[in-house]
Amino acid sequence: MEPYLIITELNDFVFCPKSIYFHHLYGRYHAGLYKEKPQIIGTLNHERIDKQSYSTEKRYLQGIEIYSQTYGLCGKIDLYDAQTKTLIERKTQVKTIYQGYKYQLWAQYFCLTEMGHEVKKLVLRSLNDNKNYALLPPSPAEIKEFETHLKKIRQFNPNDPSFTQNPEKCRRCIYAPLCDSNAAH
Ligand code: SF4
Repeated sequence: MEPYLIITELNDFVFCPKSIYFHHLYGRYHAGLYKEKPQIIGTLNHERIDKQSYSTEKRYLQGIEIYSQTYGLCGKIDLYDAQTKTLIERKTQVKTIYQGYKYQLWAQYFCLTEMGHEVKKLVLRSLNDNKNYALLPPSPAEIKEFETHLKKIRQFNPNDPSFTQNPEKCRRCIYAPLCDSNAAH
């Protein structure tokens, strides 16, 4: 059986495939060692959900562990509203709906439905400007695209000598000081 992928890696991989390797290496250390301010704010927003402080109403499932045996995925959701069947992923600020955000939400969608929860709506919530972006559950074509993405992650070789990265991304990358493929030198 293939190893489980952590759902946040589906988004990270779009930013840079190599960042997954560093995430595995350093993910277990305290956030302050390797995260910069915007990411710490994002972490704090998620901590509120992890501590299940969003609402005490029973209709909300908050920060629960999820998994999909079909896709070999595990992780957590931010919020699921059982009354409206809505899955919500909160980000500090959403300026663009990146493909990585969609992969993350789709992964949560597959996990939740496999665990027996009906999901009708997917929402990306931007906290700073209080905006909601509604997404549809993945279409058959998007499911294929999603499966190809998982395959690429599983097949990626961090030591591939042909790997190159956009210097702009490396400049914004928290792992840049550790990475021998850093193109921003
Ligand atoms: S420094 Fe560049 S190549 Fe290395 S992990 Fe970050 S984005 Fe990827």
